[in-house]
Amino acid sequence: MSRGTLIDLLYLFSATTFVVALKGLGSPRHARRGNMVAAFGMLVAIVATFFKYVDAHALHHVGLILLAMFIGLIVAVPTARYIKMTAMPQLVAIFNGVGGGAAALVSITEFVHIKSTHPATYVTLEVLLGVLIGTFSFAGSAIAFAKLQELMTGRPITYPGQQIINAAVGFVALALIVLILVTASTALLWILFAIAFVLGIIFVLPIGGADVPVLISLLNAFTGLAVAASGFTLGSNLLIVAGTLVGASGILLTRLMSKAMGRSLSNVLFSAFGSKITASGATTRADGLSVRSGSPEDVAILLGFASRVVFIPGYGLAVSQGQHVLRELAELLESRGVEVVYAIHPVAGRMPGHMNVLLAEANVPYEQLVEMDEANSALQTADIALVVGANDTVNPAAHDDPGSPIYGMPIIHADLAENVVFLKRSMRPGFAGIENDLLYNPKTTLVFGDAKDTLTKIVAAVKAS
Ligand code: NDP
Repeated sequence: MSRGTLIDLLYLFSATTFVVALKGLGSPRHARRGNMVAAFGMLVAIVATFFKYVDAHALHHVGLILLAMFIGLIVAVPTARYIKMTAMPQLVAIFNGVGGGAAALVSITEFVHIKSTHPATYVTLEVLLGVLIGTFSFAGSAIAFAKLQELMTGRPITYPGQQIINAAVGFVALALIVLILVTASTALLWILFAIAFVLGIIFVLPIGGADVPVLISLLNAFTGLAVAASGFTLGSNLLIVAGTLVGASGILLTRLMSKAMGRSLSNVLFSAFGSKITASGATTRADGLSVRSGSPEDVAILLGFASRVVFIPGYGLAVSQGQHVLRELAELLESRGVEVVYAIHPVAGRMPGHMNVLLAEANVPYEQLVEMDEANSALQTADIALVVGANDTVNPAAHDDPGSPIYGMPIIHADLAENVVFLKRSMRPGFAGIENDLLYNPKTTLVFGDAKDTLTKIVAAVKAS
């Protein structure tokens, strides 16, 4: 077998590992293995590419390549290892952004290279799409990162005529592509690069922090397309396959997330959702309803009479890092004959699968995690719904109030349980910024405080009872 055939086979192997990895990532049980399979496939691809270029005598600046890989390693490995779980969306944003930026740089380099070596050759469309989409994705991801990292406001930034201006800038970018195809002008390429950069920024500005994770998934899909375009430019089947897989899975994830939030993608991208906070934040409202607050000991007493409890975790559990104590409470209750399940909403937390990953880290058995439909039937016979740092995902307005911005979002019906207990720190609303009537329901008790602290006190009180 020739070296060339071997390299092609290694590429085929890598492409196959990416598909197998995606399958593994479909379930928390296999996600870690899926990640390892993809990483191994990528390593094989890098080594094969190295030998491909050695064989073609086209490998220059090896020292610079190794230096770049080394810098990438020392920045990425500790960042990925020590990043807090709650900061994962911004990590994905920045990793995605540099992927798009790299694809754009490859396309620019190829453009300059083609022009200097074969001036008579026409520049092809994929090179320009690589520049446009890759740069757009880089700039958009950088703003998404800044919003989530609170380097700038997470609220939507809007101004009159915004969507018309954005559309006009997009149109200019497309017109430039046509012009460059005709003139092959390098000066125009740099203008396209600048316009794509601006477009990425202005596209993301009006999107509120609550919707940024959906946006990141979309930008991820764009990066995949930019990488696939680079694959056409460089004649690399592997890049085409890998980029298309990222593009397709990014689009599917974006659709799934929008659907789980009960909103259309255009509503997520263009409605400046989250620009207004409508929650009153009051413990007693103008309509006379008031919240009932309780202590961890009160909850322990309630739990003492329960035979079926549904835990409903949300973003606040991740913030407080209370997952280990929550599992401890579940085990304690089970040892006393109480049936416990964890109700998992697909958009609880700040990224898809956030609760699954969080609870897996605390070794909660997968069998105890139930999805929304199953959770809602369990809640009909539950004595207690223990809502730990969740809010929007249990808000009945999604069901009852056609005027609510989250109307139509499928929710976990905590209100079906005999008693509802919320663990949260204050009367502040969830990410959507809207009032939750369930907090004022007569069957609801609020225990104010950090979720981990409160859970620790509940565990102690249950043990003492
Ligand atoms: P929410 O954002 O609705 O509510 C979080 C709750 O946690 C708040 O009530 C907050 O109240 C409380 N909280 C925060 N920190 C703590 C703490 N240390 N201890 C105790 N409580 C705490 O969370 P949900 O998970 O219910 O909903 C997720 C939201 O994010 C939805 O609106 C969803 O659409 C959105 N979203 C989710 C995405 C995903 O992929 N998962 C993607 C994009 C958006 P307080 O401050 O008073 O403590």
